[in-house]
Amino acid sequence: MIDSSLDFHNCLYNIPMEMFKTLAPEAKFAVDFLGEASVLARKIQDEMVDPALEKNDRSPVTVADIAVQALLGYYLSERNPGAALIAEESSTMFAGEEGHRLVEAAAAFISSMVPGFREQSFRALLDYGAGLEKSNYWVLDPIDGTKGFLRGDQYAVALAYIEKGEVVLGGLACPRLSETGPGEASSVEKGNICIAVKGEGTYSRQEGDSDWTRTGVSRTDDPAEAVVLRSFESGHTNVSDIDRITGELGVQAAPLRVDSQVKYTLLARGKGDIYLRIPSASSPGYVEKIWDHAAGKLVVEEAGGKSSDINGNPLDFSRGRFLDQNKGVIATNGILHDKVLEAIRKI
Ligand code: AMP
Ligand code: MG
Repeated sequence: MIDSSLDFHNCLYNIPMEMFKTLAPEAKFAVDFLGEASVLARKIQDEMVDPALEKNDRSPVTVADIAVQALLGYYLSERNPGAALIAEESSTMFAGEEGHRLVEAAAAFISSMVPGFREQSFRALLDYGAGLEKSNYWVLDPIDGTKGFLRGDQYAVALAYIEKGEVVLGGLACPRLSETGPGEASSVEKGNICIAVKGEGTYSRQEGDSDWTRTGVSRTDDPAEAVVLRSFESGHTNVSDIDRITGELGVQAAPLRVDSQVKYTLLARGKGDIYLRIPSASSPGYVEKIWDHAAGKLVVEEAGGKSSDINGNPLDFSRGRFLDQNKGVIATNGILHDKVLEAIRKI
C-alpha cells in the first residue's frame, strides 16, 4: 500500500483524493511526483551545459533522465517500499568517468530541491524496483523525447501503473506545453499534467490553473480536417508511409511534428486527431518500449479515444519491457480509427 500522507517538496498540482474512486493514493502519488519531476527537469533544461552521453542504441541520455528516474526511486523507497518499477535507464550505463560526472550532477540537482535526498545511494535509487517479478508495477519514462529536451523543445515525463498486464493508471507531465499548443514551447514556462485512471476518465490541469478539468478527444469525423500528430524525429517513424496514409485519407490539415508523448496529451485534449507511429524503414526491427506508450495510451483512451497497433491489434502490455506482439502504434479520437486502419491496409 502506498503512503499518501506525506507532502512532496514542490507541489505544482494538487489532486483531490475524491477525484478517483479507485487507485486514489496511486493517482495522488503520480501527480505529486510528476509535478516535482517537471520542476526538476525544467531546472536542468535551463541550467545544464553538460553534453549528453550516448547509449548502446545510440540514443542520448542526459543528467535529467537519470535525475528524474532517481527521484522516483527515492519517493518509491520512502512511500511505496518494495514496489516494482520498469524504467528506461539503469546504473550500468554510468560506470565510466563521464557517467560518474552525470551522476554527480544529477544528485546535486535533486539535493538542491529535495532536502534529505541521499546522494551517496544515487545508483541504488536509479535502479530502485528493477528486476522484480511482480504482477503490479510502475512504468517510467523519465524524459521521453530526450532529443526534444536537448533542442529546448517538447518532452514529457511519463508514469504509468500496470496491474496484471493492463495499464490502469497513466500520468503525463508536459513541462513546456502551453495552453495554446506546442508552438509556444520555448517561451512559456508553464506546463500541463494529464492523469487517467482506467474506467474513470482523464483529467487535465494547466500549471497555474486552480482546478482540474475532465478532458475529451476531438469530434472530428472528416479526415480532410484531421490534424495528424507525428514524431519530430524522422528516424522514429516512416515519413513516406505517413504521407501515403494521409494522402489515402485525403487529409488537408497541416500535421503537427512534436517530440514524445506530448502527442498523446494533445490528442486527449482535442488538439490533434490522429497519432501515427509507423515503423521506420531505417530500423525495421525496432520494437516499441512500454514506457513510450503506457501512460499515453490510457490518457487518450480515458478521454474517449482509441489505440492499437497498425494492424488494429490492441497494444499488449503484459510482456515486460517491450510491445513485442505489436507493430507500430496508432491512436485516434476513436471516430477516425477504422478509417485510419483501412488507409493503412490499402497502402
Ligand atoms: P517520439 O518523439 O514520439 O519519436 O518518441 C521518442 C521515443 O522514440 C524515444 O523515447 C525512443 O524510445 C523512441 N525511438 C527511438 N528510436 C526509435 C525508432 N527507430 N522507432 C520508433 N521509436 C523510436
Ligand atoms: Mg521515450
